[in-house]
Amino acid sequence: MSGATDEFEAVIGLEIHVQLSTETKMFCGCRLSFGDEPNVHTCPICLGHPGVLPVPNRRAIEYGLQIAAALECDVAPRSIFHRKNYFYPDNPKAYQISQFDIPLASNGHLGEVRIHRAHLEEDAAKMIHVGTSGRIQGSDTSLVDFNRAGTPLVEIVTEPDLTSGAQVREWGQLLRATVKQLGVSNVNMEEGSLRCDANVSIRPVGSSGLGTKTEMKNMNSFRYLERGVEAEIERQKQLVASGERVVQETLHFDPSSGELHSLRSKEESHDYRYMPEPDLVPLAPDTAMLDAAAASLPELPAARAERYHSELGIQEGAARLLSVETEWAAFFEDVLGSDESIEPRVAANWVTGEFAGELRRQGEQDPADSRVSPKSLGNLVSMVSANRVSHGSAKSVLERMVADGSDPEAIVREQGLEQISDTGELQRIVDAAIEGNAKVAEQVRGGNEKAIGALVGAVMKETRGRADGGEVTRLLRQSLGL
Ligand code: ADP
Ligand code: ZN
Ligand code: MG
Repeated sequence: MSGATDEFEAVIGLEIHVQLSTETKMFCGCRLSFGDEPNVHTCPICLGHPGVLPVPNRRAIEYGLQIAAALECDVAPRSIFHRKNYFYPDNPKAYQISQFDIPLASNGHLGEVRIHRAHLEEDAAKMIHVGTSGRIQGSDTSLVDFNRAGTPLVEIVTEPDLTSGAQVREWGQLLRATVKQLGVSNVNMEEGSLRCDANVSIRPVGSSGLGTKTEMKNMNSFRYLERGVEAEIERQKQLVASGERVVQETLHFDPSSGELHSLRSKEESHDYRYMPEPDLVPLAPDTAMLDAAAASLPELPAARAERYHSELGIQEGAARLLSVETEWAAFFEDVLGSDESIEPRVAANWVTGEFAGELRRQGEQDPADSRVSPKSLGNLVSMVSANRVSHGSAKSVLERMVADGSDPEAIVREQGLEQISDTGELQRIVDAAIEGNAKVAEQVRGGNEKAIGALVGAVMKETRGRADGGEVTRLLRQSLGL
């Protein structure tokens, strides 16, 4: 679309809730669970009985510090727990213990996006809405499952540094991969272990102020979030183009219809009557805890992408893809390790391109579960690099490998796919193609160089793809006196 809507750019900030995969809840000894019978993992503390006292989960604090370290945040020497008051059935105390003005961590970044803060809090219970209408609004009954109440969360809040739906998806995937690599959460979005809200506004291109934002809640995949954000940017641009204003509200995006619905107008922080939690002392991690968190960091996806790009010369796109999916990175490194002569860049292209594509076509996902071992893929890549099989033949070999785990050498031998490396033999086929297509050959000689494609095709057909296309073209041009 052109015209007025092009003069605006999108500004997006994310709020991500990460459920920590501790054994027990944030302030009591109840087990974490998913999918268990409702309300079996509860106690007076997580049910909000009067007079009980919260005891912070040490492991959750350690996980929080690991996230803070991975996001290169400053850790507050003394951060404070607050009560965030609100009345809702998922919240039996009528407040959530969270952090407010002094969060655990602040001022970090992941890639190009700045992290405003990361703080610890507890999750609410899970509401299950049942009813004849099948919709949340207008349903007949709501049930509450307190198994989730009190699950430790880290909430990560970014600065409004993102500018498109696609960037939200890519960066979100990087964040998820980073947290997963730390091993502090299972980051399963479908189960709600990682939940992402997006705040979206638009502003005139070149201006630095911020427009009124809307908030999109809890999408359960980054693909949906990308689409929701794009739809919301478009909606805001249309509103402004028709002289209306964006209203601050919370939205729900329905991926199946592509529609946005308003859930409620947004609360302000003063609505929550934050107050310091009198039952908890400030959280003051000592040097040993900070050092342990820093020392625990594995190579994180962003660093790995950087290393792949700068040290191994892999294109940025492939490097990022490999880094975000740890199982792909592991497979790739094993391919490289299987044969020293393999060029990383070539291997990366095969792993993320042909191999990933063939797995998808055959309905597989995880390379580690594939019948193709890194060694046999490495073998195939080496054969292509050594010009022993053409790229085209290698693709059909790969199809067989994925289907039944056959050895590439065996398939090549069995199907006679070895490239014709004997120039004499290839020359005879080239001569025959020129003779058999005299008219075309005449056109090429007469200056219509494009027509040479038909001759190349004839040779490839005769050799059943066993010739190197570049070599065929070279011989043809030579024979035609070009
Ligand atoms: P609120 O007080 O409404 O919760 P915050 O200032 O705490 O807003 O920011 C919440 C999130 O919204 C952050 O990720 C922030 O980057 C993002 N954000 C804030 N203002 C805007 C805006 N005008 N447009 C887009 N995102 C914004
Ligand atoms: Zn409990
Ligand atoms: Mg806020």
